[in-house]
Amino acid sequence: MFERTPMIAGNWKMNLSLDEAVALVEAIGSGIGNVSDVEVLVAPPFTHLAAVRGAIDASKIFLAAQNMHWEMSGAYTGEISGRMLQHSGCTHVILGHSERRTLFNETSEVVNLKVRAASFLGLIPVVCVGETLDERESERTFEVIKEQLDLSLDNFRADQMMPTSTILAYEPVWAIGTGKTATPEQAEEVHHFIRLWIEQTFNSGTAAQVRILYGGSVKPDNVKTLMAEPDIDGALVGGASLKSDSFVQLIRSQKA
Ligand code: PEP
Repeated sequence: MFERTPMIAGNWKMNLSLDEAVALVEAIGSGIGNVSDVEVLVAPPFTHLAAVRGAIDASKIFLAAQNMHWEMSGAYTGEISGRMLQHSGCTHVILGHSERRTLFNETSEVVNLKVRAASFLGLIPVVCVGETLDERESERTFEVIKEQLDLSLDNFRADQMMPTSTILAYEPVWAIGTGKTATPEQAEEVHHFIRLWIEQTFNSGTAAQVRILYGGSVKPDNVKTLMAEPDIDGALVGGASLKSDSFVQLIRSQKA
């Protein structure tokens, strides 16, 4: 069986001053020491990317942005391109986070444009999908996830090829920032569905290699049981990534 390296990713959202961001990443760097069996990713706000990059050992902590525009340059006031992210030291970019989808009307078609641009540049996309409480309660979870995957990764479907470095994140909207975590069984059911979708859409080799992170109120006391599930390869963490103690504890909670 293919061994997928676990990943713990911190999404700092629109939080922290520049000094706080640098201090946090320095504390994470010293807290994790030489941990090598898990990949660590942090996603600061755009304005903090370069300073955070300067404060970390790039071989230990990867840097992500939380969003990007799909064009390379041009008259797009207020937007940031993937190339600019690379110039700031990013290797990854989070795309289609539910806050972008719900608060900023980002559709899966737009997410697909961004995924295509990121892949063209060699930036690794962390593509988020997830259902709302309403959709779960009306038993539409799998239908919603399938549609988000079909449309957000449409370009890969057209190419009949998805890079195995692509990272997917299942984040039930009802579990983000609410303190409600999906049970390991609820999360695994959807992760397994996503892995089958990859297998059916592409092939079994890709399905075996692509990492699928879980996100939604992940904390040091629930990460181990979630990651013990066979199709959960790590966590995308909001709140608990803003304190070095809790984030380092998450990183140190290894897959059994
Ligand atoms: C997130 O924003 O992706 C997230 C999962 O947040 P939290 O961990 O705070 O629920």
